[in-house]
Amino acid sequence: MHILTDVSLKHYSTMRLGGLAKALVEVSTKEELSEAIEWADKHAMPLLMLGGGSNVIFSDGFNGLVIVNRLNGYEVIAEDTKSATIKIGAGEPWDHIVKQTVQAGLSGIEKLSLIPGTAGATPVQNVGAYGAEIAEVLLELEVYDLKTHNFAILHKDDCQFSYRSSIFKSPKNRRYIITSITLRLSKRPPEPPFYDNLQYYLDKHQITTYTPQTIRDAVIAVRTSRLPDPELTPNTGSFFKNPVISVDHFNNLYQQYPTMAHWPTKDGHIKVAAGWLIEQAGLKGYQAHGMKIYEKHALVLVNDSAKSYADLATFRQEIIEKVKADFGIILEQEPELI
Ligand SMILES: Cc1cc2nc3c(=O)[nH]c(=O)nc-3n(C[C@H](O)[C@H](O)[C@H](O)COP(=O)(O)OP(=O)(O)OC[C@H]3O[C@@H](n4cnc5c(N)ncnc54)[C@H](O)[C@@H]3O)c2cc1C
Repeated sequence: MHILTDVSLKHYSTMRLGGLAKALVEVSTKEELSEAIEWADKHAMPLLMLGGGSNVIFSDGFNGLVIVNRLNGYEVIAEDTKSATIKIGAGEPWDHIVKQTVQAGLSGIEKLSLIPGTAGATPVQNVGAYGAEIAEVLLELEVYDLKTHNFAILHKDDCQFSYRSSIFKSPKNRRYIITSITLRLSKRPPEPPFYDNLQYYLDKHQITTYTPQTIRDAVIAVRTSRLPDPELTPNTGSFFKNPVISVDHFNNLYQQYPTMAHWPTKDGHIKVAAGWLIEQAGLKGYQAHGMKIYEKHALVLVNDSAKSYADLATFRQEIIEKVKADFGIILEQEPELI
């Protein structure tokens, strides 16, 4: 285990911003993870587990130990005629896993193709795309419990999964470090109905045979046409959550904006598309402070040449103020601010 000190977090976040981590270590085994935790305890330092850094924004560095997850592994632990159960190391790059399962003819995560980051981070915000969520195929996960200082198994029902949320998401609940996830994937091909934009792509390309591979290919094509590659263009995907507003508020706005993208929520409110609000506020393509709003997707903020978090914070505030002035809605940031 090699602990580095005063490491720039810029290289560990896909937004390519951040101050210094007081200490940082990359761990590839469970033993190294235990050692790193002991080291942080001994030095009375807070811990932060990091995967690919594609869903975090560092405001001013981290005054503690950042543990970067490199725990590998891919093992088929059970199989029958209908399904395969696979245990995956939490540090595996997520899309490598999707590719591998798709090549094995397994269905269940093909719609989650090309989501950046690690396998172990997927349960944190219950990652989802094109109508699929990791919670649907997750059986259990192995964690290091910082309260009991032991490795433990949590079952899906222990994780309180909901839309983009779980017990792991809240910073107050940083009790668990996920070390592996176990998924049950199906040997049956994916079935329609598919999300509108996916179905549109399939129809346009006359794809009528639905296999994990044809759906993965379609998802990759649709995503790459709309989202920037964080390896080339620093960003963290969707920057704002889709806001939820009251029916009265929505009705008032809808009279003025009948094309407003929206969905009813289970608790009687209305969710509106944050990207639509930003676009209607005339901000698509807007650039300032070294940041810009991606031309092909108004929900994505790109770091062009921002020098620090302060640049991003000023830019974010301008967007929030404009959307608030136009629609009376206050946007909230989606990636965790650390
Ligand atoms: C271009 C782009 C597109 C995206 N598209 C989607 C999408 O379609 N759907 C979607 O849901 N998300 C999407 N995201 C967001 C992001 O990729 C996912 O949330 C991803 O799962 C984050 O993985 P990561 O390894 O980078 O996590 P990180 O950013 O490193 O960490 C995110 C959070 O998880 C915690 N964490 C990470 N690993 C562990 C662990 N092993 N144990 C405990 N806690 C941990 C961290 O402490 C932090 O709180 C997108 C991001 C980008 C840049």
